[in-house]
Amino acid sequence: MSDTFDPWASEKIVLVSDATAGLKAVIAMDDLTLGPGFGGVRMRPYPSAAAAMEEAARLARAMTYKHALADLPYGGAKSVIVTGEQRLDTDARRALFEAFGDAVADLGGSYIPGVDMFTTPADMAVIRERGAAAYCAEADPSPWTARGVYAAMRAGVQGVLGSPTLDGLTVAVQGVGSVGGELARLVAADGADVIVADVDTARAEQIAEETGGRVVDVKKIVTTQCDVFAPAALARVVTREIVPRMSCCLIAGAANDTLDRPAVDSDLLGSGITFVPDFVANGGGVIHEHARAMGWSDEQLAEAVDAIGDRVLELVEESREYGGSLVDAALARGRRRLAEARG
Ligand code: NAD
Repeated sequence: MSDTFDPWASEKIVLVSDATAGLKAVIAMDDLTLGPGFGGVRMRPYPSAAAAMEEAARLARAMTYKHALADLPYGGAKSVIVTGEQRLDTDARRALFEAFGDAVADLGGSYIPGVDMFTTPADMAVIRERGAAAYCAEADPSPWTARGVYAAMRAGVQGVLGSPTLDGLTVAVQGVGSVGGELARLVAADGADVIVADVDTARAEQIAEETGGRVVDVKKIVTTQCDVFAPAALARVVTREIVPRMSCCLIAGAANDTLDRPAVDSDLLGSGITFVPDFVANGGGVIHEHARAMGWSDEQLAEAVDAIGDRVLELVEESREYGGSLVDAALARGRRRLAEARG
């Protein structure tokens, strides 16, 4: 994935506008080779239509690779609804999602929306009322996302350090919300020493107590002395400036867009820090959505989520064989899957 935005690189970008409902939206379908485009609806202010289009297309590209690496039958897509600064009342929000649902239905099933920042299961229900498919399992995907990150972390540790467990290693978790909290419990149960940080200090204290870990300041967690750093709060926390101050040997977490920009990946490689791509490690969330939509049992879901670990081990091997980072290996694998599907 490159630093520059090329609007022509997407398979299809649809601009939607409905003056009556006050809807301005962009639906980006990056690549539909593997199936209908599946990806969340993000709702927030954007400074311009171009900025909205860029974010939708960039996120849709990440979804193409997330699905390809998770062996899911979906293309990459994402949409953004551009909002003003004021909060919408219930009726206005419903009208907005009715109009958006009509636009999704017009696409004839080539785009399946889901929940993303500032959209809810209730919004997805309104989209469905308009005859469009929308994924949003009622159950919270976070425990499955945490399970997938844990599998990715274990595999990363095995591949990089040769250790079969996390026993005796120090894992620093940034953000102990739905995913990070569960991840901290899983790694502690595996014998790791846990360090946590959260802007919600009460939550950080509680998870530290539960896991026998300790709390550090939110400003220090990225550079704290540890073996594994697990970002599970914000996007773009690993910057070019911060890499030389990091002490871990592995990064494996849930946060989408962990790297501030693609070039940070080579900085990490040069510093001897292995970055398990976020779009591989956090695939448990989309696998969960697919499993619920297809009526899989919990056992089938667990097997698919745990397979994230096997995939990470393979990526470690491929990166050794061909050189480059795990991101390079993951992108190459994604491109191979797309090429095979195109035939
Ligand atoms: P969450 O809101 O439940 O938890 C995030 C936690 O981070 C909160 O406790 C919050 O207080 C804390 N936080 C916020 N700013 C912080 C900062 N500057 N420093 C430290 N902590 C901070 O969110 P979540 O569902 O656990 O998701 C965590 C990350 O994983 C997000 O980036 C999300 O996009 C990504 N993700 C989540 C899922 C999922 O299934 N929930 C799936 C894929 C990716």
